[in-house]
Amino acid sequence: MAASLKGKKCLIIGGCGFLGRHLCEGLLEKGCSVQVFDVRTTFEDSRVKFFVGDLCKKEELKPALDGVYCVFHCASPAPLSNNKTLFYKVNYQGTKTIIEACKEAGVKRLVLTSSASVVYEGKDIRNGREEQLTYARKPLDYYTETKILQEKAVLEANSEDFHTVAIRPHGIFGPRDLQLVPIAVDLARKGRSKFIVGDGKNVVDFTYVGNVVHGHILAAEHLNPGSPVCGKAYHITNDEPIFF
Ligand code: NAD
Repeated sequence: MAASLKGKKCLIIGGCGFLGRHLCEGLLEKGCSVQVFDVRTTFEDSRVKFFVGDLCKKEELKPALDGVYCVFHCASPAPLSNNKTLFYKVNYQGTKTIIEACKEAGVKRLVLTSSASVVYEGKDIRNGREEQLTYARKPLDYYTETKILQEKAVLEANSEDFHTVAIRPHGIFGPRDLQLVPIAVDLARKGRSKFIVGDGKNVVDFTYVGNVVHGHILAAEHLNPGSPVCGKAYHITNDEPIFF
């Protein structure tokens, strides 16, 4: 059974990022009371309450969790930063801190933004189904290694009175994207995209940010006691795969 989020207090950790800000707009449209927790502030909106802090510090998270119905965790260091220590600290240890802080504050729902890369080992996956896909034994990079640890921690924390779900988008595109499309365009302009990966028929699952937001909101609406959504991971895709 879906429960409307209207009038409910939701907290977006990483809400000043690309996806987080879109999620913020999506939740406001649903009539939620929206709070954002982030290490930085990138926009202003009088309808949103902002908390500036580091998710690795429980004492900084605590004030933002008071009376919250659902937490959306979409914070992460940038994948290209290549900073192993930071990935481990924020994605894994920080996520465990969020889980602990949620439980202590009595928050009952946590939606994690994971990544499709947690099941990718370099071989094409067509028509994959979540229940058949296992975590990559040899993840492509350290960022993904910590996204796996993070997702496991969140899904294992699911219990009768703490409901969790993980959403796995792949490359996200849409307005205000500073990474995927701008970097691809920049490389193309510099003439650094004149090669073919594989046989040229590789399928890549880029997802429009609006669909990713929709997936997060649907997950939160269904994150209720006894729901089959609890403790599960879901890939978010567009209708049609995009050939790369
Ligand atoms: P982003 O970099 O735009 O936003 C991440 C936000 O997290 C930033 O505002 C940053 O300040 C915040 N943050 C980082 N460390 C923090 C900390 N210690 N405490 C508090 N806030 C912190 O990233 P995005 O593209 O919006 O990605 C959002 C989520 O989606 C991430 O979890 C990422 O792994 C996942 N994801 C993104 C893509 C994509 O293509 N963008 C694809 C798959 C998964």
